[in-house]
Amino acid sequence: MTRNSCIVVGGGIAGLMTALHLQRRGEQVTLIDRWEPGHARAASTDYNRVIRAISGRDEFYTRWARESRAMWLEMQAECGLNLMYECGALILATKGHCDWEDATADTFDKVGVPYYKFTRDEVRARFPQFKVDEIDYALFEPEAGLLMAHRCVLAGLDLFKRAGGVVKRGTVTTDAQERPMLDGAPLQADLIVIATGAWMSEMFPRTIKPISAIMGINVLYTSTPDGSDQFDMENMPCWIDHGQGSFGIPSSEGSGVKAAVVIPNTPIDINNDERLIEKASLAKTRQYIRHRLPGLEGQRVVDSKFNQVILTPDTHFIVDWHPEHENVLFAGGCSGHLFKHGPVFGDFVAGVAVRDYGTADRFKITGRRKLSPKESPSGR
Ligand SMILES: Cc1cc2nc3c(=O)[nH]c(=O)nc-3n(C[C@H](O)[C@H](O)[C@H](O)COP(=O)(O)OP(=O)(O)OC[C@H]3O[C@@H](n4cnc5c(N)ncnc54)[C@H](O)[C@@H]3O)c2cc1C
Repeated sequence: MTRNSCIVVGGGIAGLMTALHLQRRGEQVTLIDRWEPGHARAASTDYNRVIRAISGRDEFYTRWARESRAMWLEMQAECGLNLMYECGALILATKGHCDWEDATADTFDKVGVPYYKFTRDEVRARFPQFKVDEIDYALFEPEAGLLMAHRCVLAGLDLFKRAGGVVKRGTVTTDAQERPMLDGAPLQADLIVIATGAWMSEMFPRTIKPISAIMGINVLYTSTPDGSDQFDMENMPCWIDHGQGSFGIPSSEGSGVKAAVVIPNTPIDINNDERLIEKASLAKTRQYIRHRLPGLEGQRVVDSKFNQVILTPDTHFIVDWHPEHENVLFAGGCSGHLFKHGPVFGDFVAGVAVRDYGTADRFKITGRRKLSPKESPSGR
């Protein structure tokens, strides 16, 4: 059955991929965003995002990441743009804190994800950019890499429009009953998918706010040494460094090396903050670079981003119907790892939206609880 009208609110990666897959299922979809899709305040902004199957013992996201990788490659072939670069991802396992990394290796064996387990000396030989004195071992996932995030958003938007989707500008609000409203009147549609990222929390203070927290993340791009291609994606992988609360991406298309040192609970006013990085973050990143990437010491910051994630207690996404409005479906709860899953997420949400199947238990609004780092897909 096709609905008379489908609206997707939010043109970040979650909304765009959902809109695209709904449109391809034969629905007529209107995508509404308060700003221009691709804008710099969305979580889906920035040059790049890591794509990797590494998810600890969590087989679900491991399989989703693998499926997504195939779908990104298909999308890349379809639109003829470089959306993904397979530079691999290196997971550094710190001595005494390797539960998540140990669990990842077991999951990879089970699911059949290619990987190498490198000793400290093997890391030094293979990736001399990293100083790994306190590392126990490292996992290397060669089919992981990076997605050119902003380009992926624009490519998704283009495919959606080419499939007949309509894009509109507008700010959706909610009334006291959490009914979606546009221009002071209830939004009328058979299906309304809410994919407003971190804004979902303020829009749905009774349903989403209690199961979400919003955190700012500062990201700095550092110049690569003059005359050296050692820190380019052809020679260096993405990396995850839980021991140091950090992750990063090698220089891609001239971006400089991206390093994020996560400072937990960094507050952010998603509507009003200037998107400038904080001084404390600059000092922390420099310290981290000295420790882990000494070849970059003395290099300069060439770009920076200050952006938000919406975190659920268990870091699982939210795909569920509003408890009181049967045509309103939530799609988000990014928890810092949704981008890579974009195509599979959108396809899954589209199926739930047209009631082909129910949502997964882990994505339901109710029953959320904090997971230990051992259980958590993100290891945090
Ligand atoms: C620094 C950083 C690094 C990250 N690294 C990775 C990574 O390496 N790999 C990975 O997989 N993920 C990563 N993530 C997470 C990933 O980027 C997010 O999970 C994903 O982009 C979330 O997409 P979204 O569509 O849910 O939200 P958003 O991209 O924020 O989109 C929400 C959209 O809704 C619109 N909107 C909001 N309110 C309204 C309203 N009232 N009416 C209409 N429109 C509205 C906004 O304008 C926006 O366009 C990272 C996130 C950050 C911040």
